[in-house]
Amino acid sequence: MSNQSLRKEIKNLEAELNRKILTLGKECRFCQHNWSGIVYTPIINEAYTIPGDPVETRGSDWRGPVHVPQETIPEWKRTCTLCGSFQTTRITKDQVTHNNGLQTISKVPDFKHSTLQIR
Ligand SMILES: [Zn+2]
Repeated sequence: MSNQSLRKEIKNLEAELNRKILTLGKECRFCQHNWSGIVYTPIINEAYTIPGDPVETRGSDWRGPVHVPQETIPEWKRTCTLCGSFQTTRITKDQVTHNNGLQTISKVPDFKHSTLQIR
């Protein structure tokens, strides 16, 4: 296949892809959404060490290695069982529950300001 016909085919496929994304977006926007259980999907940035200056260059401004600890960014995800779109959030809100006259406040994911992601 020549490069020219490959380019033409890629262009056609891109146009088809964009049409399908638009159609999917439309269907998801008009969905009544039935959210499934919330899944905890934290983002974990592994610990690492910034090497610092070589030992032989030791002077007054010499910098040794710096350890950067692991970081966990909490995130939650919920998925619509009807259209398959989903939302993620890193925000929580207080939820008050009453049980045997006991009031409990717990943190629950807040999806109020999350945007709808279709794929
Ligand atoms: Zn939906």
